[in-house]
Amino acid sequence: MSLMFGKVKSAAPERNPAECNLVLLGAMGSGKSALTVKFLTKRFISEYDPHLEDIYSSEEIVDQQLVVVRVMDTCDQNGPVNTERYLTWASAFLVVYSIDNMQSFKGCQQYLDTLANHNKTCKPETPIILLGNKLDMDRYRQVSKSDGAALASRFGCLFYEVSACLDFHSVQHVFHEAVRKARRD
Ligand code: GDP
Ligand code: MG
Repeated sequence: MSLMFGKVKSAAPERNPAECNLVLLGAMGSGKSALTVKFLTKRFISEYDPHLEDIYSSEEIVDQQLVVVRVMDTCDQNGPVNTERYLTWASAFLVVYSIDNMQSFKGCQQYLDTLANHNKTCKPETPIILLGNKLDMDRYRQVSKSDGAALASRFGCLFYEVSACLDFHSVQHVFHEAVRKARRD
């Protein structure tokens, strides 16, 4: 299936407040690509190349202001590696796990540790959102909402649960909150 959104080359973050670079991190299979595609196209695409890492760009209206939002959809296979490619580029991080997969939740902690270490060295800190995906799989939940919230509060991040295959507005809300956080800090 061909996707109709634009790809852009990686660019350094700009101080211009009307631009925002979001990075999605997390275990393979947690739904980073599905969330990215949903945000960009309003559609759920169930099979997406698991080894495709790219940066996409979208012009968004957030709080009545036009913001160029770039989204880096990463595809690490074994936790955080080559983190330089996104640590300084990012204006905000979305760390994703799947609520029906405890392993993916555990995988988030490695990313959160890495980001917390990075944030010690950068002021202002880069905001982080912890995101439990696949809320439609509630029946098979392995990670309670309170466990997600507790991990988020330990690392001082915002926390949401969404589904890439349910309503678009919940997914859009999370991405826009990341933009708001980034622009506030
Ligand atoms: P990534 O490796 O983190 O990029 O994960 P993908 O976006 O490729 O998704 C991995 C698998 O989970 C695919 O089979 C998707 O169809 C499925 N998936 C992604 N998001 C959701 C979701 O919200 N609900 C359900 N039920 N499946 C999802
Ligand atoms: Mg992917």
